[in-house]
Amino acid sequence: MGKTLERVLITGAAGFLGSHLCDKFIKEGFYVIGMDNFITGDKKNLEHLESHPNFEFIEHDITEFISIDGPLDYILHFASPASPIDYLKIPIQTLKVGSLGTHNLLGLAKAKNARILIASTSEVYGDPLVHPQTEDYYGNVNTIGPRGVYDEAKRFQESITMAYHRFHGLDTRIVRIFNTYGPRMRLNDGRVIPAFMGQALRGEDLTIFGDGSQTRSFCYVDDQVDGIYKLLMSDYVYPVNIGNPNEISIKDFAEEIIALTGTKQKVIYKPLPQNDPLQRQPDISLAKKILGWEPKVDRQEGMRKTFEYFKSLSKEDLNKREH
Ligand code: NAD
Ligand code: UDP
Repeated sequence: MGKTLERVLITGAAGFLGSHLCDKFIKEGFYVIGMDNFITGDKKNLEHLESHPNFEFIEHDITEFISIDGPLDYILHFASPASPIDYLKIPIQTLKVGSLGTHNLLGLAKAKNARILIASTSEVYGDPLVHPQTEDYYGNVNTIGPRGVYDEAKRFQESITMAYHRFHGLDTRIVRIFNTYGPRMRLNDGRVIPAFMGQALRGEDLTIFGDGSQTRSFCYVDDQVDGIYKLLMSDYVYPVNIGNPNEISIKDFAEEIIALTGTKQKVIYKPLPQNDPLQRQPDISLAKKILGWEPKVDRQEGMRKTFEYFKSLSKEDLNKREH
């Protein structure tokens, strides 16, 4: 008889991070159950796992009651729209998946006695007044602004997770993810990397929102997945920032993309969306200390790999504007 594999449920499995997590857990020797309703995800991200003996997929909206046959050892809750244009388009679903969906998963984890890790975000810090952002910063969020639907859903998600931990003794982990990029991002999801690379490939000007002085710090997906895995396997229950502290302004970043892609286009300026954070950089001292983790892939290498991926997409994918 073969060894029984540990079983992990990954929600948001057809999305960018969820699909990479499925690959990681398969590689580490787990039995993986992927769950998604495809609202912002894509079946193609899981095609390569379809016939894998240690993988199964369940199409389900996690805001509805979740039923899983058999035991579960781990749950990774990654289902949620993540790009500003997605959560502005489906604000109520975004609030529901962070609240009702998270509640369902915590209940499932309790019933199965499984450890659960939830995907939180640097957006819990809002437009931060502390720089770089440490985990003990409470944040600066406009609850009623357009981004509030995402930020507050994620803040609620953290609160209910800690309540299950404290009240029910549930084994929980919380990762605060900072801007992460790589292959399988949706080309038309509006986030700055697919936006700039798509524009370069289509021969369009690169759209900078605002004056481009706002900053972000971009983490390559393999580093992010490695950090998440280490956090899950650690015994630390409070939130941990995972991201790459290498900060850059959006204006300088556009110049880097122009150089990388060799596009002859220029940059054009559009209005800055409301409550768009002016600066963002993770303080990763905690992750270094408790997980022995830090990012290894520099932006040049990560962007090159990501551009290769976008170049390999069909003309149809490249020209698709709406999800
Ligand atoms: P994504 O949009 O590619 O993936 C999200 C997935 O969740 C999609 O496949 C979508 O169909 C699925 N989903 C949404 N609502 C659902 C529902 N009700 N039921 C079932 N499935 C549902 O986004 P991503 O970038 O992979 O983000 C994944 C997670 O990581 C999200 O929770 C996001 O908030 C978090 N996060 C990501 C980043 C980043 O930079 N990528 C940063 C911070 C936080
Ligand atoms: N941005 C931009 N042009 C675009 C898309 C985004 O200048 O075509 C800016 C956006 O205003 C923000 C930054 O790039 O300041 C990162 O945006 P993204 O949507 O990737 O993620 P965010 O960190 O804001 O959630």
